[in-house]
Amino acid sequence: MTTCCEINLTDTTLECIVDKVNNQERLTREDGIALYETPDLWTVCSLADSVRRRLHGETTYFNINRHINYSNVCALSCKFCDFYRKKDQEGAYEHSIDDIRNEATIALESGATEIHIVGGLHPWLPFEYYTDMLRVIREIAPNIHIKAFTAVEIVHFARITKRGRDGIAGISSVLSDLIANGLGSLPGGGAEVFDDRVHDEVFRGKIGSKKWMDVHRCAHELGLNSNATMLYGHVETREDRINHMIVLRDEQDRAEQNASEGKFQTMIPLPFIPGVSELSHLPGPSGVENLRTISISRLMLDNIPHIKAFWIMQTLHMAQHMLQCGANDIDGTVVWYDITKVSTETTHQECTTEDLKRAICDAGFNPVERDTLYRKVKRTNSGWSVE
Ligand code: SF4
Repeated sequence: MTTCCEINLTDTTLECIVDKVNNQERLTREDGIALYETPDLWTVCSLADSVRRRLHGETTYFNINRHINYSNVCALSCKFCDFYRKKDQEGAYEHSIDDIRNEATIALESGATEIHIVGGLHPWLPFEYYTDMLRVIREIAPNIHIKAFTAVEIVHFARITKRGRDGIAGISSVLSDLIANGLGSLPGGGAEVFDDRVHDEVFRGKIGSKKWMDVHRCAHELGLNSNATMLYGHVETREDRINHMIVLRDEQDRAEQNASEGKFQTMIPLPFIPGVSELSHLPGPSGVENLRTISISRLMLDNIPHIKAFWIMQTLHMAQHMLQCGANDIDGTVVWYDITKVSTETTHQECTTEDLKRAICDAGFNPVERDTLYRKVKRTNSGWSVE
């Protein structure tokens, strides 16, 4: 297993960073910016690869999951989003609890280990809709892990149950109700970029970084694990991205002080996809910028164990390259995903397990099926279990 990165540097200013990575020392903000500015992309990717191999060898994780986007009706209108619709607008939808029941049955029959649920901030659906959704899934598929609701949805639930005025206690009480009904962990969506200027320009109305972190900290304190994301490649600067990573790293340092707390399991850098959003005039990040960003995420986030190349947004071909640039997870079979569409007109975006395994093997790594908590999944004729 490679633990030390020997590289012929074309940019000698990176020498100090190479030494730090080889000595497993923490990188500074200035180091992160230097990794973005250097023309020597090869070194950046190679360094990230050496860290990934030290942590995970050639193992690359995938899972068998299904996404449910229960409604695209949203009270907000974030500029970067081409998912949301207003009530009665063409294309607006909301799934009934019976629809969710059907989805859970299909997930069970297809051997999924995880259901991933997110949606818009529906102005009229009551909190019971969400707890019923969890309970129905739990009844039908008790072994399937439910990863559900981004931080902004949790804050929305606190508002509609009039617990928003209770601040952190209100968020904690909403999360406790969701956990009691089957919530297993939080996804990392909605973090966007932790910067006030970027927030005001693109996400005004949506929760800011402090609230996003409050929700994840509450979840961690209640013992839930969560993921983290960064939506990059729009109006933010590269410095903003490094600051974002450092905020996540600091929070993980805090959570690690207490063994009983949940943690960030996975960082998922998400490239901005212009689509038909209000920011459709922006080009979005290039492939090279995507490789650099996933590499730097691996290098800066030394205390977050997993880096995911989310194939739905990166494309499977690009995700294969990312496995050689620090990523050790490629996400799952997905099936339906309404939030973004890279290259298809339909929201049916499915990879079979064979597709995922082949992509991982072709990239030179060993595919390992995991559950949401990164336990190895063992399959037999009668079902699945974790090791
Ligand atoms: S990003 Fe989320 S909160 Fe913002 S408009 Fe889209 S669905 Fe609504």
